[in-house]
Amino acid sequence: MKREEVDRNKLSPGMKQYMEIKDSYLEELLFYRLGDFYELFFEDGIIASRELELTLTGKNGGLEERIPMCGVPYHSVKPYIEKLIDKGYKVAICEQLEDPKKAKGMVKRGVVQVISKGTVIDFDMLDEHNNNYIASILDFKTKYIVTYGDISTGGLSIVEVDKNRDRLLSVLLNFNIREVIFSDDSEKELIDILRNNHGIDFSISYDYLDNGYENVYKDITDIKYITGIKHLFYYLAIKQLKDLSLIDKVNVVRLDDFLEMDIHTVRNLEIVETLRLKERTYSLLWLMDKTKTAGGSRLLKNYLMSPLKDRDTINKRYDMIDKLREQFLIKEELLQLLDEVYDLERLCGKVYGGNLNARDVLQIKNSLKVFPFIKDKIKELGFEYELVDESALYELLEEAIYENPPITLNEGYLIKDGYNSELDQLKEIRSGGKEVIASLEEQERERTGIKNLKVGYNKVFGYYIEISKGQVGLVKEEYGYERRQTLANAERFVSPLLKEKEALVLNAEEKIVELEYSLFCEIKDLIKKEVFNLKANASTINELDVLVSLATIADEYSLVRPELLEERRIEIVDGRHPVVERVSKVEYVANSCMMDEADNTLLITGPNMSGKSTYMRQLAIIIIMAQMGSFVPCKSCKLPIFDKIFTRIGASDDLVSGESTFMVEMMEAKNAISNATANSLILFDELGRGTATYDGMSLAQAILEYVNNKIKCKTLFSTHYHELTDLANNNEGIKNIHVEAIEKDGKVTFLHKVKDGAVDKSYGIHVARLAGMPNDLLNRAQEVLDRYEKMAKDKSGEELSEQVAFNFDTNNDSKVLKRLEDIDPLNITPMEAINILYELKELSKE
Ligand code: ADP
Ligand code: MG
Repeated sequence: MKREEVDRNKLSPGMKQYMEIKDSYLEELLFYRLGDFYELFFEDGIIASRELELTLTGKNGGLEERIPMCGVPYHSVKPYIEKLIDKGYKVAICEQLEDPKKAKGMVKRGVVQVISKGTVIDFDMLDEHNNNYIASILDFKTKYIVTYGDISTGGLSIVEVDKNRDRLLSVLLNFNIREVIFSDDSEKELIDILRNNHGIDFSISYDYLDNGYENVYKDITDIKYITGIKHLFYYLAIKQLKDLSLIDKVNVVRLDDFLEMDIHTVRNLEIVETLRLKERTYSLLWLMDKTKTAGGSRLLKNYLMSPLKDRDTINKRYDMIDKLREQFLIKEELLQLLDEVYDLERLCGKVYGGNLNARDVLQIKNSLKVFPFIKDKIKELGFEYELVDESALYELLEEAIYENPPITLNEGYLIKDGYNSELDQLKEIRSGGKEVIASLEEQERERTGIKNLKVGYNKVFGYYIEISKGQVGLVKEEYGYERRQTLANAERFVSPLLKEKEALVLNAEEKIVELEYSLFCEIKDLIKKEVFNLKANASTINELDVLVSLATIADEYSLVRPELLEERRIEIVDGRHPVVERVSKVEYVANSCMMDEADNTLLITGPNMSGKSTYMRQLAIIIIMAQMGSFVPCKSCKLPIFDKIFTRIGASDDLVSGESTFMVEMMEAKNAISNATANSLILFDELGRGTATYDGMSLAQAILEYVNNKIKCKTLFSTHYHELTDLANNNEGIKNIHVEAIEKDGKVTFLHKVKDGAVDKSYGIHVARLAGMPNDLLNRAQEVLDRYEKMAKDKSGEELSEQVAFNFDTNNDSKVLKRLEDIDPLNITPMEAINILYELKELSKE
C-alpha cells in the first residue's frame, strides 16, 4: 500500500493527522509518537521493519486494508534511531505536544527535531574523538565555499576551496564531514562518490535563512561566506528545527595557512587510521593521543590534520612544551586536573540542543570544580591562556543539584535539600504522610485484632490493607474497609483514613516532582546565561590538554624539539618512525636524513623488506609532527617549513573505486607533479611498479627527472629499477642512498640501515628463499637472472644517459606560452585570430 495513493477521505481522524504531518517530512522516516510507542507507517514502516529487523504489523486506519506499521517503545528508541542514521537515513521525531490526559479531542502532535548523520547530538551516538560536522557546499564558479559546523559543540568554520573535485574531497574527508548539503543537484557524480565510497550523507536544500543569527556573521564582509552560513543555517534551523544559539562566531579557515596533505597522504602515512583495517589503533594519532579530555582529543586530531606553516606559531607551541617538560611537577598535576574535566563543549551543546539532564549538570559542576586549580597552574607556567571565573555557577550547582539524580526529569530527586524552602516543606509533608501510613498498620491491627494485617503499596492501587484469606472473616462493616483486589490467599482493602493519608503523600509527591522540574529549568537557564563563557573555557582547556599531551609523548617517546630553518635543508640525525618503533618486535634502527639545499632527490635502493618505505614515511611523519607543533622522534632535527606533502606509497589499490593500481599510481603521481612547489615534499615509493618493466622504468625515470629538474622540491624516490641509480651521475640534485642488507651463506639479513650510494642487487630471489620457495625453482630463477644481467651488459649503456640530459624547459615551450599570454581574446578580429594560430603553429615547429 502506497501512502501517496491512499484515499485520504476514508482515513480515520488519527491517521489524517499523521498524513498531514508526514507531508512535510517526505525524505525522513517519521517516528510518530502514540502513547508509549513511536510508530512508523506505510513505506516508513516497511523500511524500518526491514532495517531494524522488527515485525511489520498493521493498523486499522479506516481503509479496507490495514496500514503497514512498525513500532518501537519510546524509552528504548535510541539504538534504533542510531542504527537508521548509521545506514544513511534521516529521522524525524514527532511528539505529543500536550498531555493526552488533559487534551480535548485529538492530542496535538508535531515534529520536534530531525536527526541525520551530521546533526546527531546525543552522546551515545557521537564519537568522542571526532567532531561531527555538517557542511554546506556552494558552487561559486571558480570556488567552492564550504561552511561546516558541529552543532554538538557550537563550532562553525568556513573554507574556500579551489574548484577542483579532488581538493574538495580532501577537505571534506580530512575535516571529518559526515553530511553535506548542496544547493542544487548538479554535483551528482560527486554525491555518488561521497555516499558510496565514503559514507557521507547528502541533502539538497534550495533555501537560505532570511533572518536570525545575524550575530554569527556580523564581522564578515564577504557575501559568499554569509550566503554559505545562511544556506547551512536554513537547513539546520528550519528543516531540522535545531536551536543554533550556541554558535556565536564563524572561524574563517585559509587552507594556505596549513601544510597541505591530500587524502592519499593522510591515508598512506596512516595518520588517523591504518591502511588495511581502517582502525585508529596503530595510527599516528593513536600513538600521540595522551589527552585527558574528549575535547582535547578532538583538537589534537585537528592539529594533526592541519599542520601549520607559520614559524612563530609553531615555535610558540614548542616553547610551551619545553616549559611543561621543565615544570614536570606542574604538568603531572595538570594531568590529574584535566582528568576531572568532562566533555564540556558537548555539554554546552546539550544546553541548547538536547535534553540536558541532571547528570549532565553534575558533569558541568564537577568540571567547574577544578577550574580554579587549572587557572593556578596556567599562571605558574606563565602561559597566556585565560579562564573565565565560574565559581558563582559552581557554588550554585553545588548547592542545588542532588548528587545521585536519575536520567529523567519527571521523577524528582534532582534538587538537594536546603536549596528551596517550599520544596523542603513538601518533602516534609511527604515523609510525614509516609510515617503516618506506616503507623497505621499498628493502629489497625489493634483496632481490628487481626494480627497479620499489613499496609502495603503498589503502583496500580496505591496504599492498601492486606488481610490473609483465613482472617478475612474478621473484617467488620464498621471498619469502613472497601475491597479492592483479591489474591490467591489474601484480600486487599482500602479505608477512608488510608485514602486521606495517601492523598496527602501523593499530592505532595506530585508537587515535589513539578517543583523540582521547574527549579531544574531555572538552573538550566542560569547555565544558558553562562554558556559562552563555558564554551570559551572549554576551548582553552582543550588547547592546554593538547599541549600537555604533546609534552607527555615528548617525554615518553624521547622526542626532541625541531629547529625550523629558513633555508631548504634537512638534517635529521637518527630519525625514527614513531609507530613502527613502538609496535615492531625487533629493535628499531634509527636512520639519519641529510639533504643540503642543492639536494633535491634521494634515490633509495635496497632489497625488498629492507625498510625503504618505512624510511620515507618516517621523514614525512617527522615533518608533519614538527609542523603541528610537536617534538619529533630523532636525536636532533633541523627542517625547513614545507607547504605540501604528496605521497605515492605502496600498492594500496583503491578497491572501492575499482581503479587499477597503475591508474591510481599515475593519478596520484600526476596530482603531486601538478601541485608541488619547490617547498613541497614528495614521496614516490616504487613508482611504475604496477606496469610492465620497461614501461614502468621509463615512466619512473621521466617522472624523477621532471620532479628533480623542474619542480626541484625535496623528493624521496625508492625504486627497484637499479638502472635508475645511474641518474645520479648525470643530474644535479639526485643522490643515491640505499638500505643495507647483508648476504651470508646465501641468506639475507636486513640491517635496516640507510647508507650513501646505490646497491646493485635486488635480493628478490633471496626473499623468495626466505619465503620457503622450492630450491629447484630458486636455482632456475638465478639462471634466468644471470642471463638477463648479461644481456643488459652487452647492450650499450648509452641509451639511458642520453635521455638523462633531456631538458623540460625547452625554449619553444616558453615562446609559445609567451605568445599566448600576449593575446587579448576580447579584442581581436576573427582574421587576426587565424593569423595568430598560424604563427603559433610555426613557433611550435621550431
Ligand atoms: P621495503 O619498503 O624496503 O620493502 P619496509 O619499509 O616495508 O621495507 O619495511 C619492511 C619491514 O622492516 C617492516 O616490517 C618494518 O617494520 C621493518 N623495518 C623497516 N625499517 C626498519 C628500521 N629502521 N628498524 C627496524 N625495523 C624496520
Ligand atoms: Mg616498500
